[in-house]
Amino acid sequence: MENLIIFSIILILYIVFLIILRDKIINSEHPIFIFLIFSFLSILFGNFFGGIFTYPIAIYIFTIVYFSYFLNLKYSITYLGIILLIEVLPRGIMEYKESLLGFQNLNWNNPFIFVLISISTIIIGSISRRYREKIQDDYERIFSGRIVNPDSQGKIIERSRKELKDETELSFDKNIMNLFTSLKTALDFTGIFLFLTDDNSLPSVRLQTYLSDFEDSIDLNNEIKPGTSPLSFVLKEKIPLIIPRLKTSSRALGYYLKDLNINSIFVLPIVHKKQLLGMLVCDSKQKDFFTEVHKETLTHSRDLIKGLIQNSSYSSKLINEAKESEILYEFIKTLNVPMDLNDVFNEIGIFFKRILRKDTEDNLPLRIIGIFLENKKYYTIKYSDGSFDFDITKLENRNYEIPEEGIIQNIFEFNKPVCRNLDKNEKIILNLENIEMNHSETKSFLALPLKFQKEMLGIFIMEYREPELFSEYEIKLLEVAGEHCGTIIKNITLFEKMEGLAQYDGLTNLHNHRVFQEKLSERIKRVLRNDRPLSLIMLDIDHFKIFNDTYGHSTGDEVLRAVSNVLKEQIRDIDIAARYGGEEFVLILEELNKKQAFEVAERIRFKIANTDFYLNNQHLKITMSLGIAEFPKDTLDKKELIQMADAALYQAKDNGRNRVEIYLRG
Ligand code: GH3
Ligand code: MG
Ligand code: MG
Repeated sequence: MENLIIFSIILILYIVFLIILRDKIINSEHPIFIFLIFSFLSILFGNFFGGIFTYPIAIYIFTIVYFSYFLNLKYSITYLGIILLIEVLPRGIMEYKESLLGFQNLNWNNPFIFVLISISTIIIGSISRRYREKIQDDYERIFSGRIVNPDSQGKIIERSRKELKDETELSFDKNIMNLFTSLKTALDFTGIFLFLTDDNSLPSVRLQTYLSDFEDSIDLNNEIKPGTSPLSFVLKEKIPLIIPRLKTSSRALGYYLKDLNINSIFVLPIVHKKQLLGMLVCDSKQKDFFTEVHKETLTHSRDLIKGLIQNSSYSSKLINEAKESEILYEFIKTLNVPMDLNDVFNEIGIFFKRILRKDTEDNLPLRIIGIFLENKKYYTIKYSDGSFDFDITKLENRNYEIPEEGIIQNIFEFNKPVCRNLDKNEKIILNLENIEMNHSETKSFLALPLKFQKEMLGIFIMEYREPELFSEYEIKLLEVAGEHCGTIIKNITLFEKMEGLAQYDGLTNLHNHRVFQEKLSERIKRVLRNDRPLSLIMLDIDHFKIFNDTYGHSTGDEVLRAVSNVLKEQIRDIDIAARYGGEEFVLILEELNKKQAFEVAERIRFKIANTDFYLNNQHLKITMSLGIAEFPKDTLDKKELIQMADAALYQAKDNGRNRVEIYLRG
């Protein structure tokens, strides 16, 4: 008993000693000596207390744990070998000669049991050491030189994590509301509703956010459960549902408190991996309200909302995972504030620069280019930083065709970050107006895609003077950030598209009347300033009433669409084509006088008259009459200019149709 107490005290001292010396061993230039001292110390202790087969076993096992967990495998095995050689084996052989393999001695004294325990200790110790080192590594990487003083940050991080979580939730609703507002302006429905599933596994959804003309009649608390209503159907089947003429009362829909005049409804499930996340519901007072444009836009918005949902839950996941990274918080926080595309690219650029900042100034990025992919064909430069041989800012916000080979194609191919060392003569082909970029100093580069789901929306290209500069961890971190940015960019582009919808005529996709008026005022001001002419052409389809009566209204609509395509084809990029109303169109031709405009008009007239429109399985022909007026030659007044072009048009009708007439005074 007494022995046990003394032994315990010495064991504790021994442990304390080991722990204190740990850093000395790790940092020592000759750790093997310290290691040997330990080995002999432990054997000495062991033997002092009555030899191997009593207490010292604990010392040996503890030392093995210590070596394998804090130091490395090599030391633990060497130590075990020493113990076995000078302690365990000789005594074991001596005392247990007859029953070396005898399992009747299954106790501490059996050398096999000792070896077994030691080896498992080494294995467990090594595995936990690896794990510990990995955590420590990640921790150190995040902090190394990039984030100031980790110690003082604990509290700040704790606080900002909470703030960010609140903000992410808040900004989710804010983003959805922004989206709803622009959708409503563009599509002119009665109400739009986002339902989300509860966390529990029961199939049901609850109203999260909405925008409706019937604000006061909405049932905020009702849960949509399996049943017979249209929403229940989508809940169960997880497929979109459109009801053009609703027979049931609006109350049966489950989200209105009153019977209202709701006549059509479109329900879209939000599904991820066969699991329902929620649904998007849109309704209207009008019968047969939902057109292809509605369906397409709402489906698109549904996908965006899905991204936002995933993003917000994903943000909180990210917040928990990368909890040490203050920069990441700051970044996500900044991006949650609504901004425009240029701002977003700017923020991303700043973020990447901070995250990739290495210890020395030399390792600062040589250059960073952030590009926005307008579509599969064109890209725009939205961000540039670093050294260029030319003024790159001049190239910003211009459309460039995506070259057939080079970095952008690579990214399309791999669909993930491309990071490698640049070969000596290799170029990062960007197709910048024949400007050759000098990559001779570039040793490594990273091209990071900004993605929304599978869609590629942008790419950041970062070039460095040093080879092998990025760790796998950093690339992962940036990739994660890149996906976050992708969702934000998608969000912004969708808003822009929605604004576009409000500007374009739904049938022909030409500018609508309102935009025509705005554009005309704007262009008039411009040509007046530059002392240049401008021509206005009014166009009207001949005998369109008869055409409608003969072939039907929907064939008539198809003709209007086909005619607008011809118009778009026949004018320059700077010209404006608009639907003036009904089957009347108008063209604004900047810098052209009447005579030049006449040529354009004549070309259009000829083209229309000679086009064989193949519509609804019929070959059809139409003609158009056109009238031209010129600013400022004919008049300085915008309204009068339109009237004059109109007068010329009627002159063309009078003169037998399928003609172009120029406005003549009097
Ligand atoms: P005119 O040669 O004198 O122009 O004869 P018109 O029959 O074309 O006469 P007008 O320009 O007054 O006729 C307008 C007709 O165009 C009336 C209407 O049936 C048709 N229309 C107007 N808007 C639309 C539309 O959006 N779709 C279809 N299919 N027809 C339209
Ligand atoms: Mg007409
Ligand atoms: Mg008309």
